[in-house]
Amino acid sequence: MTHIVHRRLSIGVQPVPKQDPAERVKNFDETYLGFDLNAAMIEASRCIQCPSAPCQEACPVSNDIPGAFALLEVGDILGAADKFRETSNLPEMCGRLCPQESLCEGACVVGFAIRPDKTTEPPVTIGKLEAFVTDYQRKEVGGYPKPRFMPEPTGRNVAVVGAGPAGLAVAEMVTLQGHGCTVFEFWPEPGGVLVYGIPNFKMRKSIVDEYLAHLEELGVKFVCNTYVGRDITIDDMLAGEFDAVFVGTGAGVGNKMGIEGEELQGVYAATDYLVRGNLTSEQLPGHLKDPLPDPRNVVVIGGGDTSMDCVRTAIRLGAENVTLVYRRTEAEMLGRGEERKNAREEGVNFAMLTLPTRIIGEDGRVVAIELQKMELGEPDESGRRRPEPVPGSEYTVPADQVAIAIGYGADPIVPKTTSGLATDRKSLVQVDRQTGSTSRPGVFAGGDNVNGADLVVTALADGRRAAEAISAYLDTLPKRR
Ligand code: SF4
Repeated sequence: MTHIVHRRLSIGVQPVPKQDPAERVKNFDETYLGFDLNAAMIEASRCIQCPSAPCQEACPVSNDIPGAFALLEVGDILGAADKFRETSNLPEMCGRLCPQESLCEGACVVGFAIRPDKTTEPPVTIGKLEAFVTDYQRKEVGGYPKPRFMPEPTGRNVAVVGAGPAGLAVAEMVTLQGHGCTVFEFWPEPGGVLVYGIPNFKMRKSIVDEYLAHLEELGVKFVCNTYVGRDITIDDMLAGEFDAVFVGTGAGVGNKMGIEGEELQGVYAATDYLVRGNLTSEQLPGHLKDPLPDPRNVVVIGGGDTSMDCVRTAIRLGAENVTLVYRRTEAEMLGRGEERKNAREEGVNFAMLTLPTRIIGEDGRVVAIELQKMELGEPDESGRRRPEPVPGSEYTVPADQVAIAIGYGADPIVPKTTSGLATDRKSLVQVDRQTGSTSRPGVFAGGDNVNGADLVVTALADGRRAAEAISAYLDTLPKRR
C-alpha cells in the first residue's frame, strides 16, 4: 500500500494548457484549453485514494472525487462523469468556476505530502478534471445525459423564481420527480450569473445553452423578461397554478462606494459592465442594450473574482491601460489566485493598498479618478488588517471608464411583495438550513438571496437540498382530483 502511495506521489502534476496571453487578449474564448485524455488519466492517477476523502468533505455538494478518479485513471471517462453527476447538476460549470484551492484542492492530501527529496507538489487538479470528464461525456453522448425514464406526472406544479444555479438545480430535480416546473427570470435569457455574470473567457456560454436545452427537453418551462414582485407576485403564484415556490433570485444589486462622481457617465456597476462587454444586445434588457464605448483608460475597483472579470473584459475590449484598485493587499483578496495570475499575464496593473476617494468628471463624463494610498492597521471584525489612509498621499489617474465591483446585495422586491416571508435587515430570506423552507408554507429559498453573495456551488448545494424538501412537501399535500 505504502509502495503504491509513494509511486503515485512521485507522479508530477500535469500542466493544463492555456491560450497564450498575447493571443487570448484578442478573443473572448476560454483561457484554459483543458486536459487531453492522456494527461487527464495521468493526473487522476496522482490521487492516492484517501479512505477519508478530505476533498469530498470540503466539497459543498460532496462529490465522490476519489470514486470518479478511480474510474478516470482506468479510462472509464463516462463512468467518472456520471460519478460527478450523482451529486452535482453543474459539474462542468463548477469544475471551471469553483475556487478549488479553498475547497477540494485546498484539502487534497497530495498537496501537503512531503516527498523523499523534501519537495512538495500541487494537489490533484480536481476542478479541471471534473470539467474534462463531463465535457468529454457531453461530446461523446451528444449533450447532457438523459434520464433512463421519466416518472409519471404528479399533477403538482413548482414555480422557481430566478434561473441561476440554485433555481436551475431545483428545476431539474423537481422535474425528475414528475412535478411540473416553470422558471421565472428577469433577464431575457435564463442562466442567471452563469450567463450574466461569468465571462466567456472563463466559461463558454454554449455549456449553459446545452444545459438549458436539456432542462427544456425534460419539460422545464422558462418565462423570461418577468420581474417577480412587479409583473407577478409569489402570492399570485400560490393562489394560482403553483403548489410550491422556490426563491433563487441571487444577490445582483451592486454596492455603491458613496463617493463623489459615482453618478457620472462612464462609471458602471460591475454587472452592467460585464454584461455589456460580454453579451450581445439581444441577450440584454433595454437599458443595457448599448455596447460599451471603446475604452482607453479603465479603472476597476474591488478585490474579488468579479473585479478580475471586469479587468480582463476591459483588456479584451482593447483598453490601453487597465488598473485594478484594491484597498488592502493581495494577501487579503477574496478572489482566486489563478484569476489574478491570468489578469497579470494579460497586462492588468494592480494598485494595492489604494482607495478611490473621488471620481472626477467633465461635462458629465468621467475623466479621472482620485486615489489615496493606504497602510494596514489593526485587524477588523473580519480578522483582516484594517486599511487606513496615508495622509497627503492622494494622486489622480486618467480614466474614461470606471467599474465598481465591491460586493452585492439581494433585491428586496420579492420579500416586500410576499406575505409572511421573513428576512433579515439585508433582505436575505431566512430559511431552515437543512431544507430551505421559509416562514411562508410552500415557499423555499436558497443561494445568494439567503447567504449573501457567495459561490455557484453553494447556491447549487442549497438548490439540491431545497428540491428534496419541496418534493417531500408536495407529498404532504392532499391528492388532486
Ligand atoms: S484528497 Fe486528493 S488524494 Fe485524497 S482522495 Fe481526494 S483527490 Fe485523491
